[in-house]
Amino acid sequence: MPFEQGANLPRVKVSNQSAILRTIYHNGPIKRAEIAQRLGLTLPTITTNVNTMIAAGIVRETGEAVSGEGYVGRKAHPVDIVPESRHFIGLEIQGGWRTACLLDFRGQLLCGCRDETPCRDYGKNLELARAMIHKILSSCGLRVSDLAGLGVCAPGLVSSERGMLDLRPSYSWFQKDLRGDVAALLGYGGSISVENNACARAYGAQLLQREILGGAQTFAYLFISEGIACPLVLNTASSFGSIVGAGEVGHMVMEPNGLPCSCGNRGCLEAYSSDRAVIARCEEAMERGEVPGLKELCGGRTPSMAELLERQAEGDAAVRETVEKAVYTLGVAVANIINFACPSMMLIEGKLFQLQENRDSLLQTVRRNLCNVIRSDTEYVFVAPDSFSGARGAAAMAICKDLETYNQIG
Ligand SMILES: [Zn+2]
Repeated sequence: MPFEQGANLPRVKVSNQSAILRTIYHNGPIKRAEIAQRLGLTLPTITTNVNTMIAAGIVRETGEAVSGEGYVGRKAHPVDIVPESRHFIGLEIQGGWRTACLLDFRGQLLCGCRDETPCRDYGKNLELARAMIHKILSSCGLRVSDLAGLGVCAPGLVSSERGMLDLRPSYSWFQKDLRGDVAALLGYGGSISVENNACARAYGAQLLQREILGGAQTFAYLFISEGIACPLVLNTASSFGSIVGAGEVGHMVMEPNGLPCSCGNRGCLEAYSSDRAVIARCEEAMERGEVPGLKELCGGRTPSMAELLERQAEGDAAVRETVEKAVYTLGVAVANIINFACPSMMLIEGKLFQLQENRDSLLQTVRRNLCNVIRSDTEYVFVAPDSFSGARGAAAMAICKDLETYNQIG
């Protein structure tokens, strides 16, 4: 929202600057006159602010010069942001693994790092994360103080306002000051955005995957990993902070008095359809001697999802049964989510859906369980599982925060 009038002039300038920067970011290359028109501000106001941004090196003139912008004797170029002018770090802390990445202002991945040291200790996880971030920064010739922002995400109940990881039941992490701890660990005084890791992925899609979302008014991001979450996003909102709910769908009860869940309840979706649950069921079958092929494949240790999918594709009956149950339960849950929220689009990220047959059976179950009176036109898009989707989403949050609060005038 532009605010050109008012008693508090410095604040007015800041509001104008960030609104102009966001307009350039989301629409660039763009003519100054069009920025003025979109924001309802005067051309001189745009020119003054854009000149400040050009001087600061974050915006530059680009492309073909255009006339008709009120300049005498000189044509003006459209302006666009300078991708390499600002850098952002994104970090995802999972426990079993962690990833960090460096993005430029346009969200392009410049460098990424993944660490798979198994570690359930919160402090040790942060230490490992710090080492990754230092490695990335030194390989790119940057210092921590060069960063325009940092984003951190983790599974569980996360308060983005307070920057706290309130609860991660399966790791017994309670009331962790993620923002404060990361700031202290890195000695970073800038802005740190904190979010749940499924929400971060949704933000990443909203900022960096516009081509997938197209004109979707609302979208849901179903993320299946060790847990399951499905944040809903109002895609039409122009600013950051539009997530409706954390979407902790992993704990919706699918079978009253069913299998125990890490939250202490029974019969939760996560107890059937999370990667952790599928792996645990197959491991139990392996111990009962029902899946000799799998035992041979992984030599007695805990199988990975990739190994389970390989056995499923080979036709291993016990693995197939487990995966079918997981996909079926997830399909019923998705139908309930669609019946409730009717998003225009649902993005689905989960290792299970690397196999086409699992995609087909999920959608079949969803369609069978959708409410007949709701004419749902939800579009389903399977997103390829990507090591860096969480870290990239966290960095995207930092970019959004930077665009919201950008202030060159001071
Ligand atoms: Zn639960």
